[in-house]
Amino acid sequence: MTAHSSPSRIDTSRPHPARVYDWLLGGKDNYPVDQEVAQKLPPQARENAMRNRAFMHRAAAWLAGTGVDQYLDIGTGIPTKPNLHQIVQGVVPSARVAYVDNDPIVLRHAEALLVSSPEGATDYIEADVRRPEAILDHARTFLDFSRPIALSMIALMHFITDEEDPYGLARTLVDALPSGSYLVLSHGTTDEHPHLVKSVQSTYKKGEIPLRMRTKSEVEPFFEGLEMVDPGLVTATYWYKDTPAPTPELSGFYVGVARVS
Ligand code: SAH
Repeated sequence: MTAHSSPSRIDTSRPHPARVYDWLLGGKDNYPVDQEVAQKLPPQARENAMRNRAFMHRAAAWLAGTGVDQYLDIGTGIPTKPNLHQIVQGVVPSARVAYVDNDPIVLRHAEALLVSSPEGATDYIEADVRRPEAILDHARTFLDFSRPIALSMIALMHFITDEEDPYGLARTLVDALPSGSYLVLSHGTTDEHPHLVKSVQSTYKKGEIPLRMRTKSEVEPFFEGLEMVDPGLVTATYWYKDTPAPTPELSGFYVGVARVS
């Protein structure tokens, strides 16, 4: 178990996405500036954060069930049990999981992410998805890129603006993966609540957090050239529920899992 970082400090004068999300999930690792942003979000935001998390649980268990034993999780967030490695190592004890986040508060909690099963291993890198080559260089020292890897970017890419080339960044990462690998992605959307677009974006904007919610057709390109796993690109509840509710359930997230052929 190792953690890697450049020295950086926790800034409590500005809200941070990881801490806003932690508040939404009922966590304690957030500050008044984060609570201020979170409390201005529409009431659905808390439930939606939990639905997104439920997708992560289900997708991770599914991947481990197919035998995938290597994971690269970017935008990990503040630890919330069960974390991804606890789920996959519950199925494949020897699984290796590399966690990546750019927020120093996540590094501070990395210990919780680094308690691996004895047969497996976990690693933490403080790095930014906008520098995918640096992530890959490090991940190559921990994961075997000649065997399938599941790359997860869960509730991450809506923090990447169009100018920062979100599709190109995802492509660079996916292109580094061997055949039989997977991409697991969830992305915030206001498709289901078009009237909330402005209020959600402006709440984050006031906190100087860039947020770019995307429509379904704007999320699809992340999966270009990959084979979608059933049930395809859907809102979160449709992925993790065995029996979808009779009336459509909203979740604020598009989610999907796809295979690299
Ligand atoms: N994946 C977790 C946490 C989502 S919250 C889950 O779905 O439950 C989004 C996370 O992405 C936060 O921890 C935030 O710090 C991180 N993040 C935001 N921008 C990032 C960037 N440019 N590079 C790496 N991580 C980033």
